[in-house]
Amino acid sequence: MHIVSGKQKIWDFLSVKADNPELLKAQYRAFTRQMPMMYFILLSSTWALAITHMKFAPTLLTVGVPTLFTFGCMLRVVFWLRTRNIDPSPELAHTVLLRTNRLAGAIAVAFTLWSFALVPYGDAYTRSHVAFYMAITVISCIFCLMYVRSAAFIVTVIVNGAFIAFFVATAQPTFVAIAINVLLVCAGMMSILLTNYRNFESMVVSKQRAEALSNENFRLANLDSLTGLANRRAFFVELEAELERARANGTRLALGVMDLDGFKPVNDLYGHSVGDRLLVEVANRLSGTLTASTAFRLGGDEFAIIAPFPPENAQLVINANAISERLRHPYHMPEGTIHISASMGIAVFPDLALDREQLFDRADYALYYAKKRLRGSAVLFDSHHEDQINSDARIESVLKQADLANELSVVFQPIVDIRDQATIGFEALARWNSPTLGKVSPACFIPIAERAGIVGSLTRPLFKKALAAASLWDTSLRLSFNLSAHDLNSGNGVLALIGIIESSGFDPQRLDLEITETAFTHDFEQVTQSVEALRRLGCGISLDDFGTGYSSLTRLHALPLTKFKIDRSFVKDLHQRPASYKIVKSLLTLSVDMGLDCVIEGVETEEELAALKTLGGTSVQGYLFAPPLPENKAREFAAQHGRHRNKIAV
Ligand code: C2E
Ligand code: CA
Ligand code: CA
Repeated sequence: MHIVSGKQKIWDFLSVKADNPELLKAQYRAFTRQMPMMYFILLSSTWALAITHMKFAPTLLTVGVPTLFTFGCMLRVVFWLRTRNIDPSPELAHTVLLRTNRLAGAIAVAFTLWSFALVPYGDAYTRSHVAFYMAITVISCIFCLMYVRSAAFIVTVIVNGAFIAFFVATAQPTFVAIAINVLLVCAGMMSILLTNYRNFESMVVSKQRAEALSNENFRLANLDSLTGLANRRAFFVELEAELERARANGTRLALGVMDLDGFKPVNDLYGHSVGDRLLVEVANRLSGTLTASTAFRLGGDEFAIIAPFPPENAQLVINANAISERLRHPYHMPEGTIHISASMGIAVFPDLALDREQLFDRADYALYYAKKRLRGSAVLFDSHHEDQINSDARIESVLKQADLANELSVVFQPIVDIRDQATIGFEALARWNSPTLGKVSPACFIPIAERAGIVGSLTRPLFKKALAAASLWDTSLRLSFNLSAHDLNSGNGVLALIGIIESSGFDPQRLDLEITETAFTHDFEQVTQSVEALRRLGCGISLDDFGTGYSSLTRLHALPLTKFKIDRSFVKDLHQRPASYKIVKSLLTLSVDMGLDCVIEGVETEEELAALKTLGGTSVQGYLFAPPLPENKAREFAAQHGRHRNKIAV
């Protein structure tokens, strides 16, 4: 066993190992540069030796053989010069290095024999020249062959072995001394060469490791670890590269950004590990659907698709909808079957988007539009959206310069107890009468102010006005006021609200602050803290537009609420729409079970009211009773429809 491994070691030492392709290539590269020099030294010293022997030795030895050597060596020099600049494959490098190994042996034997053949001719000087030639030339060859350890070793053993044996055998003291000298020098040189080779080898290996590591780092930095899709960082790099290509080739490029509908409740209801598995499955379906496009995970439940060479617009939307359709198929998990859908926004270069930012923003805008109006399907950014963006931008700029304290006003819509038709309070609703734009709906300017981050500057004057008006009401009446997420996601924002309530003198116990569930998706911790601070003050908190978002019941429990408002989309024609009817019914049951009050919004007809009565609804708001009214009209309304008056004109 031991002997075999010892033999194996010697064999390894003498041959060129093929197990490390990078090392082979590095050896090849280092080696190619040194070979012409080695042959140059070898030939010039050979000719020098041949010339000193011309007087003494036969022409065959002094001209014939060196010419032959020169010819052979020149062939090799040409070979090395020609291959100097190629990047070899590991196989090629291995073949060439193996051949070098064999050639090194053959050349060493040939030159040694030739040198010995010259010894019998000439005098002591020329014999010394032979010794000098062999000793010194071999040293330079060994250095040149340094990176192919085996070749260097073979040459040393052949040339020096013969040299030492030959000159020791002459028993001539000078030659014996030279032989011993050469033996020692060669031993020293071999040990330096071995150390050097080991350093070279480990340098190549560590460079290789560093490269592998940086490749791995690069891969990890660009990959989403959960789904295995390329990540957000890779997305922007790729988008820029594809855009560059599309620009250069004059082709189109489509970008789709996608957001899952109903993902958050899955996370809330089943836990994050199920949510994670769902994302993995979505990613699998997504990449399984795409052929010529690439999918990315931008983060959370947001994905993106880059499609070079998209089809014409109508087909593009059909394809995108097919993807949404595929993602809508139920997901069967051990914990239960999960239903989600995916909304997608698409923008196309160069149709309506000219650079990376515009392409992304516009796809994102189309997604926002899809989420609002066409949940679960794909929307292509078109010229209408562009008009909308321009008009939003105009509204935003006018809003930023508006005299808000004067231009904004508040109207009040009654909330009625349908058991005795009495007004129990009013919801304050913002109105903006702009000198430049005329009347602008809050459904339009509030979201714009929210996106521009300036909604706080609207909330404060509106809240002051609403409280000032409500302070004049009968103390049995409550005031509802709408807040934006932005009003609650900073400690300072909520302190400002508390300050306004306190300085108004209005009893916080009579105040309901309405927030939508999206408020909690911004910064759950901060918004919950803000809401709790307002609760401690005595304010009620109503969850507005309940049912339109994706609040799960578990989530609803976690929020410090006192009330929820059923969105008017469920109320419309509920007597004719069994689905709406059932939803309102179960939401009312839920409110009873949770001990929360419930206001039903948007009641417009007697039929709807009758249906709500049979379901046990009590607090109702809607055009059937009154539209939002100016302050004085609201007071009149309350006077006419106050408690115990029991009459209502509808
Ligand atoms: P919201 O809080 O859901 O307010 C109810 C909206 O429904 C009001 O629209 C109201 O006029 C309308 N409405 C009331 N009864 C009926 C009905 O029977 N049928 C129909 N179709 N609609 C009815 P408005 O005043 O245009 O307000 C729109 C939205 O703007 C509000 O929806 C609210 O989200 C936001 N908003 C209004 N004022 C403010 C405010 O002061 N602050 C904040 N942050 N948002 C506000
Ligand atoms: Ca509201
Ligand atoms: Ca509402």
